[in-house]
Amino acid sequence: RTAQQNTESALAQTSAAKEEITQLYQKSLELDRLKTEFFANISHELRTPLTLIISPLTRRLALDSLSAAERGEDELILRNARLLYRQVSDLLDVAKLEAGHMAVDYAYIDLGELTRAVASQFDSLAKEKNISYCLDVPVPIRGEADGEKIQRVLLNLLANAFKFTPDGGNIRVTLRENAGMAVIMVEDNGPGIPEDMREVVFERFRQVEGGAQRRFGGTGLGLAIVKEFTELHLGSVTLNQAVDGGALFSVSLPLQAPSGTLVRDTSTRL
Ligand code: ADP
Repeated sequence: RTAQQNTESALAQTSAAKEEITQLYQKSLELDRLKTEFFANISHELRTPLTLIISPLTRRLALDSLSAAERGEDELILRNARLLYRQVSDLLDVAKLEAGHMAVDYAYIDLGELTRAVASQFDSLAKEKNISYCLDVPVPIRGEADGEKIQRVLLNLLANAFKFTPDGGNIRVTLRENAGMAVIMVEDNGPGIPEDMREVVFERFRQVEGGAQRRFGGTGLGLAIVKEFTELHLGSVTLNQAVDGGALFSVSLPLQAPSGTLVRDTSTRL
């Protein structure tokens, strides 16, 4: 073969390889799209039935006509349905965050009102665990934020506080407004988190008691969601030791959306 023939055959091979790469790339884009669509669908499919358990039950619990036994049972069902909802959401949102598809849906909200509403979901558990549950949350504290995401941040912090604080303990929720920022603090007097673990617990799947020691269950995703949702708002979360040795989480959030962001007028339904 002549040098020219060699060159031509090399060129033909290169162009065939190029074509193949293009096709593979297109296929991977399509797979990515399908995966995203799948997670959106499954998220809807799993959460909707749970919402349809939680909403009627919440309405039923608002009635005065329930006996103490009925109320106790309904509260147990509601608590577990909410736990499942939270865990399903954490799992699906991690997938969504990984795909880079998580957008912040800014709306005008009252952060004080939202904090109170979320905190009240733990009233019955506080009573049951004989926990002194203290709320220092002024209203209104108006801001621009994604209510659903802030709700999840609070839910995850409170669920942890209630999970790790032994019966008879103390939990305190505080909201402050300062220099254009809202600071939400969730403090408990449970075992706290050792200093060398205070950063890693925000990583996905990380738990202080890993492996066979696990006494508390959980997915290890809660604090990762707290951090990532807070940072999507350009806020930050810190973890310190509370005065009495427990955990103290502080979430700082700008009260204003970044300039140029669309802010919806309707506030997020809780
Ligand atoms: P999960 O609670 O599902 O294990 P998280 O990401 O919410 O996952 O928390 C990670 C770990 O951080 C927990 O497993 C626990 O070891 C520790 N942790 C979180 N909150 C508290 C708390 N309030 N008190 C003590 N330890 C905590």
